[in-house]
Amino acid sequence: MNQLAHNRISMRRYQDDEVVDAVIIGTGAGGAPLLAKLAAAGLRVVALEAGPWWEAPAEQFATDETSASKIYWTDERLSAGDTSVVFGGNNSGTGVGGSTLHWGAFVPRADPRDLRIHTDFHEGADWPLTYADLLPYYEEVETFLGVSGPAHYPWDSGRRYPTGPVPINAPGQLMQRGFAALGLRTSAAPIAALSEPYARPEYGQRPACVNRGFCHQGCRNGAKASMDATYLPWAVRDGAEIRPDSFVHGFERGSGGNITSVLFRQTGTAGKAGTERRQRTRAVFLCAGGIETPRLLLHTGLANSSGQVGRNFMAHVATQVWGTFAGRVGMNKGFPATVISEDMLRPAGAPFTGGYLVQSLGVTPVTWAQGVARGRGLFGEELVSYLDRYNFVAGIGINGDCVPVKGNYLELSEEVDRNGLPKPRVHFSYGKSELAMSEHAVTLLKAAWQAAGAEDMWTLERTAHTIGTCRMGSSPEASVVGSFGQSHDLGNLWICDNSVFPSSLAANPALTIMALSLRTAEHFLASR
Ligand SMILES: Cc1cc2nc3c(=O)[nH]c(=O)nc-3n(C[C@H](O)[C@H](O)[C@H](O)COP(=O)(O)OP(=O)(O)OC[C@H]3O[C@@H](n4cnc5c(N)ncnc54)[C@H](O)[C@@H]3O)c2cc1C
Ligand code: SF4
Repeated sequence: MNQLAHNRISMRRYQDDEVVDAVIIGTGAGGAPLLAKLAAAGLRVVALEAGPWWEAPAEQFATDETSASKIYWTDERLSAGDTSVVFGGNNSGTGVGGSTLHWGAFVPRADPRDLRIHTDFHEGADWPLTYADLLPYYEEVETFLGVSGPAHYPWDSGRRYPTGPVPINAPGQLMQRGFAALGLRTSAAPIAALSEPYARPEYGQRPACVNRGFCHQGCRNGAKASMDATYLPWAVRDGAEIRPDSFVHGFERGSGGNITSVLFRQTGTAGKAGTERRQRTRAVFLCAGGIETPRLLLHTGLANSSGQVGRNFMAHVATQVWGTFAGRVGMNKGFPATVISEDMLRPAGAPFTGGYLVQSLGVTPVTWAQGVARGRGLFGEELVSYLDRYNFVAGIGINGDCVPVKGNYLELSEEVDRNGLPKPRVHFSYGKSELAMSEHAVTLLKAAWQAAGAEDMWTLERTAHTIGTCRMGSSPEASVVGSFGQSHDLGNLWICDNSVFPSSLAANPALTIMALSLRTAEHFLASR
């Protein structure tokens, strides 16, 4: 039993007909920090989470990839477009803790220039806030989670991390070697997993990472800063109620238009099978992620006077290069992604918008086999024979900006899923910028890998993360929410998740989502 499960024993419970101060939909990177902050301020808050509650990670998260599908959102999502998105474990999660149950915990901050991408490139959208607005919240999240990182971050001399870096695994060492040969800088990456035991009064003591390497299958000891090990125990301790297996499918509204109740169906062990319930509330925070948030809004017809709900879907360019090394690598050992380079955030003369981060990779066997089949085009005997090289291969990958465009969007399809809601259909195609970025990255990554000693290299074209679809902005005509996440249409609806990003940023998204979550909470509390 972890600290969250322990706190659950005495968890406060609210009646459905009691008007609570806030309902938070989703308990991932967007929902969990908000829940904790509102509970700590003494508010009566209920979190509704579609997925189950894993109370004993040490027993429930096996060192076995095939058993991990239970923490992925696997309800069907339809894909369209030239670069159609692969859904499932690649980009979404479910359960108390959301996608952070299986995230890679790679936590770079946004580059300040990425927040003004339209000003600099005349493409995409600027954010309605600056890096200075985000900085105090970045620092608060990093300190709270115990982010491990280098003493001196090469691209930001003022930055300090609360704990030292996790050990650099073999793929990380190869990246250091390859980049050094090209005259490029690398650093131990900022990682939201503990390099040493770390204690906070809000959640108690968490142990150091034991380098088991199966982070994407759920951390068994709480070293990884998933929400169930950090913000959620704090939230429950301070009076929040979390209801798992509770799928939200509608809202009721009062005469003034504001939401008065949240409608949800509770299934599974926590409630009677398929019980329809209604929680009365003063405010709603929609934190269901870049796909489910716009889907629910389109389904209910709310908050869309701008016509922007579902628009501007983005996915990071996440191309990888793989190669074989003469000596044993053993990429399954250690924390998976340990080294970063930000040297490509604005490469001189590059023909694309924004830039990309480079990161070392550690991928477990089944996931890697899927990448081999797709990227190298191998099947049958040939595939099995190539997979024998697992211990001698290593990969290197990017996370790069994506330009929001009209043709990339989410809509409701005609097909209905098991919850009775239309399945979402996502249209996504790379534009000129994404194609040029991927090509640029392949050239660089192959050069680095060659310098590190790789042979027989191949490329895996892929995307990562689900971003945009309810963009924030100053204008109610061109955006869904304002800079604090409040709906332009409904005074008591707030959105806080991947969907509010006006541009994708090159950085992996979760740290920024958490920072926005704290900012939204603070503004909400101040405005009451
Ligand atoms: C394999 C993988 C690795 C990743 N690695 C990294 C990384 O290293 N660094 C990084 O920054 N990011 C990473 N990410 C991305 C990161 O986890 C997400 O960007 C982040 O968690 C998104 O936060 P969110 O609050 O928008 O959504 P989520 O964290 O996905 O939370 C949404 C929650 O809402 C619930 N929900 C959805 N619909 C409903 C409904 N109708 N009713 C009730 N509940 C609902 C879901 O079950 C889910 O729990 C990774 C993601 C994946 C899939
Ligand atoms: S490698 Fe570390 S963070 Fe990842 S699952 Fe193991 S203990 Fe947790």
